[in-house]
Amino acid sequence: MPPSKGRPSIRIGYGFDSHEFRAGIPLKIGGITLPHDRGLGGHSDGDVLLHAITDALLGAIAAPDIGALFPPSNPKWKGADSVVFLREALQRVKKAGFGVGNVDASLVLAAPKIGPHSAALRVRVAELLGIDADCVGVKAKTPEGLNLDNTAIAHVVVLLEKVSPGKSKRKPLRNRTKSEKRRRAAS
Ligand code: MG
Repeated sequence: MPPSKGRPSIRIGYGFDSHEFRAGIPLKIGGITLPHDRGLGGHSDGDVLLHAITDALLGAIAAPDIGALFPPSNPKWKGADSVVFLREALQRVKKAGFGVGNVDASLVLAAPKIGPHSAALRVRVAELLGIDADCVGVKAKTPEGLNLDNTAIAHVVVLLEKVSPGKSKRKPLRNRTKSEKRRRAAS
């Protein structure tokens, strides 16, 4: 179906975030706690990846950004689980009539190594977004030449797709069980 006049059926969003490492706090990235001797400071739990994903989602629908919706000046968000921010952004995306197609993220940090955790990160982010893990890319780079060894950075792009009325409750083909596929084929 062609998009209605002036309303694109896909949107892209871009999010960026950075946090400084601080001793004595857990390292939260992508909604999971990674083993490391330092965590990321910030007013909330400092989850740099979830913050960038949240801003990418909000940006894709031209909504106010994470800092406007959850101001650090509000004590309510002190130490907050960043999953709360992501869920609010996702709700706004759904309300705007879109679903998440795929997400691609690049993390920039000197340590810890993300490779051994990238599968777990992809699974967790996919679960939070309600999409398949093969629709979530998580790459990591070291900050060569940036002199930012005490900083973690996240760049994220998301693709949103317009959800057609009546299609939203239908499971994607790849998620259907064999018996569901047989039933649909027979009907
Ligand atoms: Mg942040």
